[in-house]
This record gives sequence, C-alpha cells and structure tokens, in this order.
Amino acid sequence: MKGFKTLKEEMRTNKVNKGGLEIKTSEFSDSLKNASLPIHWVDNQGIIIWANQAELELLGYAEQEYIGFPIANFHADTDVINDILRRLEHDETVHNYPARLKCKDGRLKHVVINSNVLRKDGAFIHTRCFTTDVSEIINQEQQNTARLLQDNGNRLAAIVESTEDAIISKTLGGIITTWNPAAERIFGYRADETIGKHILILIPEDRINEEKLILERLKNGERVEHFETRRRTKFGKLIDVSLTISPLRDFNGNIIGLSKIARDITERKQQEQRKNDFVAVVSHELKTPLTAINSYIQLLVMRLRKTGDEFNLGILGRTENQAHKMLRMIGDFLSLARLEEGKIQINKEIFDLQLLMEEMVMDAKFLSAIHQVQLKGCESVYLNADRDKIGQVLMNLLSNAIKYSPDGGKIIMGCEHQNEQVLIYVRDQGIGIDPLHQNRLFERFYRVDDDNLKSVNGFGIGLYLVAEILKHHDSRIQVESQLGTGSNFFFSLDKCNNSRLLS
Ligand code: ADP
Repeated sequence: MKGFKTLKEEMRTNKVNKGGLEIKTSEFSDSLKNASLPIHWVDNQGIIIWANQAELELLGYAEQEYIGFPIANFHADTDVINDILRRLEHDETVHNYPARLKCKDGRLKHVVINSNVLRKDGAFIHTRCFTTDVSEIINQEQQNTARLLQDNGNRLAAIVESTEDAIISKTLGGIITTWNPAAERIFGYRADETIGKHILILIPEDRINEEKLILERLKNGERVEHFETRRRTKFGKLIDVSLTISPLRDFNGNIIGLSKIARDITERKQQEQRKNDFVAVVSHELKTPLTAINSYIQLLVMRLRKTGDEFNLGILGRTENQAHKMLRMIGDFLSLARLEEGKIQINKEIFDLQLLMEEMVMDAKFLSAIHQVQLKGCESVYLNADRDKIGQVLMNLLSNAIKYSPDGGKIIMGCEHQNEQVLIYVRDQGIGIDPLHQNRLFERFYRVDDDNLKSVNGFGIGLYLVAEILKHHDSRIQVESQLGTGSNFFFSLDKCNNSRLLS
C-alpha cells in the first residue's frame, strides 16, 4: 500500500477540501482494492508496490508473497516485462500487451496488460497495470489449433496412403525411413522390405552418381522438380520416373533427410517415343520429295534467268523461299527426334567461324527483302566444333530474328574475342520478348502466347534445339531483350588451339 499512501499524501498537500477529499480517497481506495479487474503498481525499480485482491486471486499469492517483489519474478518471459517497462519509461503506450504470468501453483496465466504511469514533475513514480485474464480464450484457441493440426495430419496421412505417386522419405545417408502403398505398387517392394535399407536398391548401376548430385543441389538450396530418370523395380524391370525431391528439416532448419515423390511416367515416355518415331518417319519421307522440288526450282530459275522472265523469276524465288522454310522445319523435327532418342552426334572439326557466318548471313539475306542482315565478323577465329550444327544454331537465330521483326530493320550477326573464347551474337530490332517468357524460351515446344504472334508459324522447337546443340558444346544460349526494342541472343564457344596460335 506504500504507493497508494503516496497518492493520498500528495492529494492532502494539494490543500483541497480536506473532509470531502478523505471520504473520496477512502472510497477510491476501497473500490480499487475490491475491483474485479486485477490491478498492480510497479515502482521505477521494477518492484511491485501495490496489488488489489483480484490480482492476488488471479495468481494465487498472498499479499506478502507478491507485494515488495520484482515484477520480473512473476513474468514467464523476461523480454516481455523488460519491454513493457521500457515502453512506460519512454511514455509509449502499453495497450493489450500479451504476457504470461506465473501462478503460485506453477501454472501460467495468459493475460493482456494495459498500463500507464503516474508521474510527478515529470518523474516516474509508479505504473498502474491492469491485467486481463485471457487464458480461457487462449486455451480454447490452442485446443482448436491442436485439433486442426491433428485433422491436417490425418488428412495428410490419408493423402500419402491413397496417392498414385510413390512417396518415400530417407535419411541423408540414403536409408529409407517411410514407404507408402503407391511405392509398393510402383517398385514392387513392401514397406517392411525397404524401410531400413539403402535407396540404392532402386537405382540402376549407371545412375548411381545421380543421388550424390541431387543431394548437392538440395544442399545448395536448389529445388529438384520433375527430374526424369529411370529406376529399377524389385523384379529388375527398368521404369521411367519423374522425381520431385524436397529436403526434410528439423526445427532449426537443418536438413535431416529427404522426401521423394516418384511418378511412374513409363506410359507417357512410351507414347512420346511412338510420337517421335512417327515424326521422324514422316519428316524423313517429306524431306526427299521436297529436296527434289528444290532442285527443280533451281533448274527453272537458271532457265528463266537466261530468258529474262522477271515475273516468273519473282514467283519462283518466293516458291524457293517457302520450300527452304519447309526444309528447315523438317530438319528441326529430324534433329528433335534424334535428340530425344539420345542419338544426337557431334562431329567436331576445325573450321573458320568467319566463313561459316558469311554463309549463314548470305542465306538469311535471301529470306527477306525488308531486313538488312549484316555481319560483324571477327577474323582468324577457328573453332573445333560441329560445323553443321553450329550452322543450324546460327540459322535458327537468324530466321527467328527475321520472323520476329515483322517491320523489318537491322539484324546483326557478330562475334567478339573473349580471351580463350569467342562470343557470338544475333541482334534484331524486332518485337522483343517479355522478361516473363525469357527463361522458358529454350524449353521444348515453348512459344510466347501472344495474339500478335498467332500468324507467325513455328512449333517452338528451334530454340530448344539451339540450347541442346550448345549444351553438347559445353555452352549455353542466353538472351537479353526488351519488349518493343528487339532481342540479343548470344553464346560463347572455345576457340580452338590452332586459332589461339594464329591470333
Ligand atoms: P518458333 O519460332 O518455332 O515458335 P523457337 O523455339 O525458335 O520456336 O522460339 C520460341 C519462341 O521464342 C517463339 O515462339 C517466339 O515467341 C520467341 N522468340 C524467338 N526468337 C525471337 C526473337 N528474335 N524475337 C522475339 N521473340 C523471339
């Protein structure tokens, strides 16, 4: 009651109506003491100097066990009380501040605290803290959350049990820890045959290194999604699977294991194979007559040149152009089919890059009358690469540059020395590419979905082929582009040793 006396004395010294004041003061004191809302006061040293009956009852202490002790003794979280006192000292509001108070019987009460400070001449005299018990609400919420978590857990377990995909978890060392029914259906092993065993029982010998690589990628924080590979079943059959792998972490965020979702894609792969075979056969069959048509066109062109029939020459020129376009498309389909079958062959030879670029630019000039295709070559660069395939890369980039610059403009194919490498680029002033699409351009069959491009023909395989051919040359196609201003596709290749000697 030390604090309360202080207030009384202060009121006395104010020399107001003494009789009335005393009655009011005792009434005031009485109502605070018996108020149903728990109240306590804390002095500037953090010591409880007064508490009412409701506060003592809330926590179960007798007056002498509570008053005169540091308030920090009764808070479960020291940082909370320190923060409340700091705020009050700095005249900041403490409004519905959540805290946990220790009861005498060892339980914790969830409360919210509202506080203000009595000051005299600006000096901190004591706090006036009003405690509201919210334990019941919190307990109810906790029960609801626990129920929700349990429901979620049950639902999750039901999903894992009933899904079509194999869900397997394993330790970082590769020991299988869980195995769902779909894993049993796909791989043929029962859970009791795999749990505790090493994941290597599923991995064919030629893919053993994959596990190490996947683990490294996960440790670097990379995601591994839709990773297509092959796995071996209990009966020795190889199946195609698509794996999505995520790290399992402990409460501190450390990776303690891996969870794998494996989807059996054997059926899809077989369908793809049938489609590829079909495309390869059709493309091959189309190529022969088209090549013959091309030769006949060239014969006719030679004749017409002699007779000087400009009109028919013009029409034949356009026919030849279209036939070339078809040949290129067919060429792309054949390359795609070869690539999918893993049959792409890189035949390296030493050649002069400048000459190849000149040829490509010359061919590209025939494709369009409204573009100025220019070469910014670099002398004396010899490459040890597959000349035809690098030619295919350059032609793909040039014909895209033309296709996607419908208003014409300059197209520059160039190269620059970069120490041991040469940088090759194709720049246009065309429609450009939204950054949203730039990362996906090199995926198979990816085309930018834009109404303005609907009339531009193509299958979305050109850049995929470019990327794959360059991958086989340890290089990577990249793009810089801005909508409306044009695009710059570029890649680097190693110069061949001979060219280093020459340059
Ligand atoms: P295709 O041209 O047959 O659609 P590609 O794989 O060659 O297939 O290109 C994929 C997509 O990339 C194209 O559909 C187009 O939207 C975009 N693209 C490629 N090159 C350019 C370019 N130079 N300028 C603008 N967009 C381009």
